[in-house]
Amino acid sequence: MARVVGIDVGGTDMKATLVDGEPIAFHARPTPDTPAGIVDAVAELVDEWRPAAAIGLAVPGVVDEERGVAVWSENLDWRDVPFVAQLSDRCGLPVVLGHDVRTGALAETRIGAARGMRDVVYLSIGTGIAAGIVLGGRLHAGDGYAGEIGHTPAGHDEPCACGGSGCLEAIASAAAIARRYTARSGRPAAGAAEVLAAGDPDALAVWDEALDALAAALAWIASVLAPEAVVIGGGLSRAGAALFDPLDDRLARHLTFQRVPRLVPAALGDRAGCIGAGLLALDSIRAGS
Ligand SMILES: [Zn+2]
Repeated sequence: MARVVGIDVGGTDMKATLVDGEPIAFHARPTPDTPAGIVDAVAELVDEWRPAAAIGLAVPGVVDEERGVAVWSENLDWRDVPFVAQLSDRCGLPVVLGHDVRTGALAETRIGAARGMRDVVYLSIGTGIAAGIVLGGRLHAGDGYAGEIGHTPAGHDEPCACGGSGCLEAIASAAAIARRYTARSGRPAAGAAEVLAAGDPDALAVWDEALDALAAALAWIASVLAPEAVVIGGGLSRAGAALFDPLDDRLARHLTFQRVPRLVPAALGDRAGCIGAGLLALDSIRAGS
């Protein structure tokens, strides 16, 4: 089977894997400051892992997979970077571009927590909240705009990083849980895990509001898409039973006749994005051959 390189460009780390159906090697390094630096770093890696038949690159933000352009990333501060054209010129290989959460969804569906299922939603809850949607075994991208469940109304009026207010991610992301706990209690918290460990009335109240908002979002997902499973990844998923048990209960209370999705923790952790980028690259060479 052909070997391909899958890369996930994150806000701080760039993760890479060599894939021949399953991941066979991993590499991580700090993300370069500029798109040109990222192209250099990818080229170095591909040289190290020759021979590779194709490159899959996953990036955050708004991604136009068809044109191969990273349209916008607030985190990495870029606009309209034609990564596919730049990397295929540089490396002389076919290149496909993907969105980090959508490639994560693909990886969890093909070889991770939802292996063998055809209708799956992958919900990443970390600094932000976003979903990757797999329907009938295929990724749904909506021209790069699908899956933005983090920016749907969650019944409050706090400001959100998107410029709006009242969004799910402003109340239920791992970052929001820590921020809201500090605002309420005056005590610092480095992350959601610390809030959970604190266990005081302020911590419990903030968690409770986050769980309610997440359960409502899951009810919409279950009602509209009827996935067999919702795979939950990102930093918040490490809370384990403290997250999954109450979410299961609250979701069940929202649903009457709908199919109840299994809520399962992600199996591939923070490697899902790069593995999925590699799987996209494999798909592209199979489709072309
Ligand atoms: Zn928002």
